[in-house]
Amino acid sequence: MPETIFGGIILKELAQIASAVQVSSTMAIDALAKQMKADGVDVVGFGAGEPDFDTPDHIKAAADKAIADNVTRYTPATGTMALKQAVCRRMEEDRGVGYGPSQVVVSSGAKHCVYIALRALVDPGDEVVLPAPFWVSYLELIKMVGAKPVVVTAGESARFKMTAEQLCAAITPRTKALILNDPCNPTGMVYSREELEAIAKVCVEKDIYVISDEIYHGLVYDGAKSVSFASLGDDVKARTILVDGVSKSYAMTGWRIGYLLSSEKIARVMSNFLSHSTGSPSSISQAASVAALDGPQDCVEQMRRAFEERRDYIVGRIGAIDGVSCLKPQGAFYVMMNIEGLLGRTIHGELIRSSDDFSSALLQHGLVATVPCGGFGAPGFVRWSYSTSLDNIQKGMDRLEAFLKG
Ligand code: PMP
Ligand code: GLU
Repeated sequence: MPETIFGGIILKELAQIASAVQVSSTMAIDALAKQMKADGVDVVGFGAGEPDFDTPDHIKAAADKAIADNVTRYTPATGTMALKQAVCRRMEEDRGVGYGPSQVVVSSGAKHCVYIALRALVDPGDEVVLPAPFWVSYLELIKMVGAKPVVVTAGESARFKMTAEQLCAAITPRTKALILNDPCNPTGMVYSREELEAIAKVCVEKDIYVISDEIYHGLVYDGAKSVSFASLGDDVKARTILVDGVSKSYAMTGWRIGYLLSSEKIARVMSNFLSHSTGSPSSISQAASVAALDGPQDCVEQMRRAFEERRDYIVGRIGAIDGVSCLKPQGAFYVMMNIEGLLGRTIHGELIRSSDDFSSALLQHGLVATVPCGGFGAPGFVRWSYSTSLDNIQKGMDRLEAFLKG
């Protein structure tokens, strides 16, 4: 049995499941780019997907008021009644799905919500279907609960969207759940109602649960609208855990508020789990989130329009550069750039064998931080998060062009 060594002291091995967890590549690259900047290096960051906008003033004012009013104590484990009611109102208004407060569980960010949902649904050894390309954390979260990820790849020619037939073929007697992320990080693709209906039919027929991560629901472009999975019928809603949060739509990543909507039974299981694992989400952030959800929504629309303008610009620029290409995303704030044509080439003395090599060479020689998509189940692609200013995007694209000439 191997041992861990700490300052010469030999200890027992750490837990196998925890030791196998990989660091989040998105967070690692973002941290690296921020550190390089702090060290005075003029790097342009397209790493982490977090809005560059400030949290709107009326939301910050609600937090100030909460502090002044001494809203500084534990709240119920799954959030305040005020926030749960605000979540229900917004769900009804934006997605046409009806939930009551007893079906809402608030936690510390949507990332933690996905973890709690998996905790409620799967036992060790159960299988979870994960369409690729996927957000890097899903794979690790599935492993963290001892389950087995069953990756179903949807390539570029399928616009990165899993079909109902593919899902059907991946299901075994051990399949417990599907993680669906629509609009999708990293592809930016949005499923149509018909595509979702076909997937939902399989989920109902095969009796599997769905964790529907809809955190980018409000960020869709070209006049399109994203369809909430739970809105597809009672039998679909009964088996869906809807995940959302305030991070992306309201530029509130640091406030750490996400929420889950499900049947009361599932909500109870998740609630019990949370009562022991987090206690409660931040009382001040919850007060701010009520203001976000109940307050004026024009700030969301302004940010959405800015993202759309940036998307149009970055897609245009990538399309005009030899050797790389991309599909036009319809939602979220990511674009996946195909670099397959560059594999095997040497750029600035670096042999590009993978997207990891590409991102690392681009960072080193072009001072541009991107996320290689190997960890997203899409080797041969690099993710650009366009949640940064148009000036930065222009600078990043100019640098990409210059780098590729090297
Ligand atoms: N789901 C997806 C698809 C994401 O891209 C993110 C971004 N981190 C999250 C969930 C988590 O969001 P947060 O924890 O900030 O609410
Ligand atoms: N969701 C964002 C991203 O994909 C934030 C970082 C993270 O939590 O992974 O970059």
